[in-house]
Amino acid sequence: MSQPSPESREHGRGMDAHNAVMREVRARNDRTYDPHEPTRVWLDEDRTPKGVKRSLTIVLNTGGCRWARAGGCTMCGYVAESVEGGTVAHDALVDQLDACLAHEREHAAEPAPLVKIYTSGSFLDEREVPPESRDAVAETFADRERLVVESLPDFVERDRLVDFTDRGLAVDVAVGLETATDRVRRDCVNKYFEFSEFVAASEEASRVGAEIKAYLLLKPPFLTEREAVADMVASVRRCAAHAHTVSMNPCNVQRHTMVEDLYHAGGYRPPWLWSVVEVLEETADADAIVVSDPVGHGSDRGPHNCGECDDRVQTAITDFDKRQDPSVFEQVACDCETTWEAVMDRERSYGMPLAR
Ligand code: SF4
Ligand SMILES: [Zn+2]
Repeated sequence: MSQPSPESREHGRGMDAHNAVMREVRARNDRTYDPHEPTRVWLDEDRTPKGVKRSLTIVLNTGGCRWARAGGCTMCGYVAESVEGGTVAHDALVDQLDACLAHEREHAAEPAPLVKIYTSGSFLDEREVPPESRDAVAETFADRERLVVESLPDFVERDRLVDFTDRGLAVDVAVGLETATDRVRRDCVNKYFEFSEFVAASEEASRVGAEIKAYLLLKPPFLTEREAVADMVASVRRCAAHAHTVSMNPCNVQRHTMVEDLYHAGGYRPPWLWSVVEVLEETADADAIVVSDPVGHGSDRGPHNCGECDDRVQTAITDFDKRQDPSVFEQVACDCETTWEAVMDRERSYGMPLAR
């Protein structure tokens, strides 16, 4: 795993301080999980470069992300759902796969052509998913068309991808880049890698014919609404050169995170859905599929507007995901747009004291 710069690791400052806070926040969690059960599984439809496909989405419980155990990202509560101890045995992972297949058989007439596998970490990290388990996953889904696997850029290596590409599967690596701006990724998200490493991972993937799906985060903590929107518009454009799809996740307030502490202290509001719309409209001409699936929309902890229009705006966003046509947003309007515009104009960043 790549290391952040020495400056950002300085004891008690920068990333070191972020990690210390994150470890303390996470230590308040005392729930435990069964290693034989997947974290989540569901059926849906997704836009792919080959059109809209039925999908099976699986969140495997692998013991979670090693960066999260070091402290991890300010908004990420996924590690709280992971099995304690950081590893899950091959047999247990196979049980999880079986449970997912049983779920699919029960709820769908036919197997989905698209399978998306997340781990709340990195599927390609062999500490999370050992080679024999990766091979078992590839064998299980060899008859599908397309597979999406989640990974941080460090673990994107061609030897790990050929398990899938050699079986004739189209492969996308889903990378949680969060933003194309290194400073925002480091200081607001507390993520350790740089944009150049994301680019290198996309080049490595393309050597075996695999592709990249970039995940961005709208409104990490410490940015104003306007700064967050501007950062996303620029990030979508920069990512489009290296990824066929950019999926923008509006930040939501997850449990056991620094964002949750800020939220309770009145220091964080999830993004407005109008901000999601603004980014999608502004980047509709980008050379990539741009989608967004706001989680927890309309709730106080999720991206939200005024409470009256949230469902309508969310429906328009879902519509946009499938059709990539910004005219879907012409049909939604609400008085709260005026409030959002005022927020965009007037919100200012924290005024930190210069000295004490
Ligand atoms: S966002 Fe990704 S890299 Fe960050 S702590 Fe969560 S799982 Fe790990
Ligand atoms: Zn409204």
